[in-house]
Amino acid sequence: MTVFASAGVSFTYPGAERPAVTDVPIDISPGGMFGIVGPNGSGKSTLLNLLTGVALPTHGAIRFFDRPLREWPRREMARTLGVVTQREEIQFPLTVRELVALGRYPYLGPWQREGDADRRAVSHAMEVCGVLELADRPTSRVSGGEFQRVRIARALAQDPEVLLLDEPTASLDIHYQMSIFELLESLVSNTGVTVVLVTHQLNLAARFAGQLLLLGRGRAIRQGVPKDVLVRSVLEDVYGWPVSVAAFPGPGPDLGAPQVVPLRGTGPRS
Ligand code: ADP
Ligand code: MG
Repeated sequence: MTVFASAGVSFTYPGAERPAVTDVPIDISPGGMFGIVGPNGSGKSTLLNLLTGVALPTHGAIRFFDRPLREWPRREMARTLGVVTQREEIQFPLTVRELVALGRYPYLGPWQREGDADRRAVSHAMEVCGVLELADRPTSRVSGGEFQRVRIARALAQDPEVLLLDEPTASLDIHYQMSIFELLESLVSNTGVTVVLVTHQLNLAARFAGQLLLLGRGRAIRQGVPKDVLVRSVLEDVYGWPVSVAAFPGPGPDLGAPQVVPLRGTGPRS
């Protein structure tokens, strides 16, 4: 069984000259953390939108748990797939608990109020994400790092089997970066959820993700274990900047993971 599979998927935005995603094969197995990396504009968010069904492929088709994605009823999809998008502005004056409770929406009937099971799921998600003490705070008054964990809590309240996140640690300090990566890792090992995330943090992705997909100009450049993807010549080509790649010296569990450091004083690589 695969979580997401495609022989190759393409997508062109209406009116665009070139496809944003070109014939990208998809093979994401259940359990574990799958990282999508690549330069700005390489098609990462577009690919995530194809995986969630927000964008429909111009060519090719995607299977979600061995069933065509387009055949999944929206509601069943919402119970199976939790999504944390790149950007979000909360327009309503909601408390943290109220925002997280929106994650229960796919489980409620048309006029049904939340029940005990919903409230438990909401509290549990907040506890796991370390935001329980913020429950009654307006979402307008939490920090960037806290807000990201609140949004992850809302996705977890959905009780999903798969969690998709678009740059969840962007602009966060190392404390919040690590707390989010370790949270995602513990979800993978404790609940068996499959995590698919887009990130620019190559060095954390190399330590936490079992598989990486490297995109460049909308194409799949490489997929595999981090040491087979984060290869100097490949990265220099895709990012257009000289780098060195060294093995993580430890301590800790990811001894030997490839760590990418951009070089200085040489300018862009032609
Ligand atoms: P990434 O997430 O890797 O930065 P995106 O998937 O957002 O890349 O963008 C891939 C390409 O598609 C870029 O060339 C971008 O300019 C283009 N693109 C993204 N969103 C739109 C849109 N809504 N309309 C037209 N082009 C878009
Ligand atoms: Mg993006």
